[in-house]
Amino acid sequence: MSINIPRGTQDILPGTVEKWQHIEKIATEICRNYQYKEIRTPIFEHTELFQRGVGDTTDIVQKEMYTFTDRGDRSLTLRPEGTAAVVRSFVENKMFGDPNQPVKLYYNGPMFRYERPQSGRYRQFVQFGVEAIGSEDPAIDAEVMALVMDIYKTAGLQKVELVLNSLGDKDSRVAYRNALIEHFQPRIGEFCEDCQSRLEKNPMRILDCKKDREHELMKSAPSILDYLNEYSRTYFEKVQSYLTALGIDFTIDPTLVRGLDYYNHTAFEVMSRADGFGAITTLCGGGRYNGLVSQMGGPDVPGIGFAFSMERFLAAMEAEGIAWEDDNRLDCYVVSLGEEAKDYTVKLVHDLRTAGMKAERDYQNRKMKAQFKAADRLQARFVAILGEDELKENKINIKDMETGEQQEIALDQFVETLRKKMEEK
Ligand code: AMP
Repeated sequence: MSINIPRGTQDILPGTVEKWQHIEKIATEICRNYQYKEIRTPIFEHTELFQRGVGDTTDIVQKEMYTFTDRGDRSLTLRPEGTAAVVRSFVENKMFGDPNQPVKLYYNGPMFRYERPQSGRYRQFVQFGVEAIGSEDPAIDAEVMALVMDIYKTAGLQKVELVLNSLGDKDSRVAYRNALIEHFQPRIGEFCEDCQSRLEKNPMRILDCKKDREHELMKSAPSILDYLNEYSRTYFEKVQSYLTALGIDFTIDPTLVRGLDYYNHTAFEVMSRADGFGAITTLCGGGRYNGLVSQMGGPDVPGIGFAFSMERFLAAMEAEGIAWEDDNRLDCYVVSLGEEAKDYTVKLVHDLRTAGMKAERDYQNRKMKAQFKAADRLQARFVAILGEDELKENKINIKDMETGEQQEIALDQFVETLRKKMEEK
């Protein structure tokens, strides 16, 4: 009996993995420009980290975590998101003491959520995210949004929309929370069980409910923007004015509340507006989390970040029909004829590779014609042909596969000659 891949996971095979590498390269280079440095945290953490850091009332913590007890009877969880662990590490490694503030970090790795798999939703998916911890300057909010839009734009995506909201500070949220409770309470019986339990714990999360999205009270719910106090309103205006100065378009959606408990002030998402993109259009989600670091036992320093998944990024690129040059074409395929020549190419191919060229030879005992076919499949720019006679005379033939031009050269000049020819390409 064969064993299949677990539900909600996927193999990223050669042919597709190059697309991942392409995006990762763009994202990491852009992070470099913006001065974000990579951090790698464990795949599993203490379960409590996510209960505290993501929030007990969230779907993630209540329904979606891969939690297990290890042999030492500890409750551990495969990370469902990246922020909680980055903040844990920030506190644990006392990064708040670093003279370079804010601390600007990025991560890239698999996350795990027990969700109902569908197009664009996996149980294991890869998130690329950034966190800027230690500053409450609205310019840093604008910066992280600029960074993610820069990544999408550099990858060629055009049909992406930045959607923005403010969740205000604590005071604004208290006022808004009361308004929401007042709004929903009389008819809360008409809502799903989750919403009923959210009413007291975290009524903003009702606005995020997928089941009750169409309920008339959702549409008539009060807007957070009417409850922002002076500081929060000014902060939000500043963020918007910076984005405008950077030439970044955005729309404001007062119903955008985001799923995680720890957000305040800026909340944003990037949506794909490409035709043919699946039902789930959110490419990226992010926001400000000023209380999180202190909640995790650190000093009271603010933070902001975002995460996008590689899977949805790729889906958006596909929906927009973006192709790119994969530069994995072979530089040289070495065809050999006869046992001695075959043996000799082991070293020859190795020499090409160590000189920095992409080189390949036959390992299947193929006839010459089949070796040429293999070279074609690999789109070799050059084919080198080494027969018994050439070997005796210390010569080798090089054929330029684009022009058809052939040249016989001294064997000891081969690597250097090919290197020069490649430079001219
Ligand atoms: P979140 O951590 O839920 O705010 O999600 C941030 C981003 O991660 C989303 O905008 C998606 O791009 C991506 N994402 C979240 N959950 C999944 C999933 N199950 N499968 C694929 N991508 C996901």
